[in-house]
Amino acid sequence: MGFMMSGKIIDGKLVAAEVVETVKAATEKLIGDTGVTPGIAVVIVGEDPASQVYVRSKGKKADECGFHSVTHTMPAETSEADLLAMVDRLNKDDAIDGILVQLPLPDHIDEGKVIQTISPEKDVDGFHFVNVGKLGTGEMETAFVPCTPAGSMVLLRRALGTDDFSGLSAVVVGRSNIVGKPMANLLLAANATVTIAHSRTKDLAALCRSADILVAAVGRAEMVKGDWVKPGASVIDVGINRVEAPEKGEGKSRLVGDVAYGEAAELAGSITPVPGGVGPMTIAMLMANTLTSACRRAGVEPPTY
Ligand code: NAP
Repeated sequence: MGFMMSGKIIDGKLVAAEVVETVKAATEKLIGDTGVTPGIAVVIVGEDPASQVYVRSKGKKADECGFHSVTHTMPAETSEADLLAMVDRLNKDDAIDGILVQLPLPDHIDEGKVIQTISPEKDVDGFHFVNVGKLGTGEMETAFVPCTPAGSMVLLRRALGTDDFSGLSAVVVGRSNIVGKPMANLLLAANATVTIAHSRTKDLAALCRSADILVAAVGRAEMVKGDWVKPGASVIDVGINRVEAPEKGEGKSRLVGDVAYGEAAELAGSITPVPGGVGPMTIAMLMANTLTSACRRAGVEPPTY
């Protein structure tokens, strides 16, 4: 499907656009064939500017895909009970296939409780225990996979030209519930031999150098150095870090990943840039998950990516 790489650089923007095109076309067909329109509800509590940007771009992308899309903006002082009632209402709303509660939530609200209240069938973020368990046990037909690792897997499949990673060793640096752990599970399901590294790992550089597939999800600017990369390895940089950029002028900043891109690109077989790598895939996979949810509701096979 199209060209996704220019040289060794994995173009996440391009692949994300292809995913969105697939979602759009399948949505049109789903509506035409069954009358089911995918519906997504995004709930935001409070006025965190970064969250508002994310929520707006999710709404725009959903419109672009032809979804029914609603955004519920609730004031920062919303009680936990009121938010849970909103989630409950959306759980029961037949027009909604995907529910997304924008994190972080204000301190007085228990995030875990809110996530576990979302119906697993509408949990397009893939954070509910039921979906975590399904990913862990391989019940992929009915699971939702968290969007960032799902998008990272799409990029890896394109870079390697296969969905079978048999014989390849994978190192995932980072063990968060939203990136590191689900990424490791997906790599394992694709037959890679997987090691999860974290802040207590000894000799991380040597471990990374053993990896055919290296995934960095740490949140530390350019921590993974060029000489940590095995020649020819596929490198997926999940990190998004804002650093000062005095060369752009006083007070200016720029985004960098967890990998020292310039150095690493010299050795890697393929590598995702930041920005323009994993980032755009996350929102594309959110759309893909919402369509998948609607397809399940309609009893139709969802597309693969
Ligand atoms: P997180 O919850 O903070 O987890 C970071 C992980 O890195 C932890 O497991 C931590 O180990 C490990 N770590 C920290 N310092 C380390 C060190 N010196 N050596 C080895 N491991 C170390 O972060 P996250 O939510 O997974 O996110 C990771 C990065 O991805 C962030 O930059 C975030 O902004 C970015 N991100 C991007 C997207 C996207 O759309 N592209 C989506 C989500 C996140 P311990 O467990 O031992 O503390």
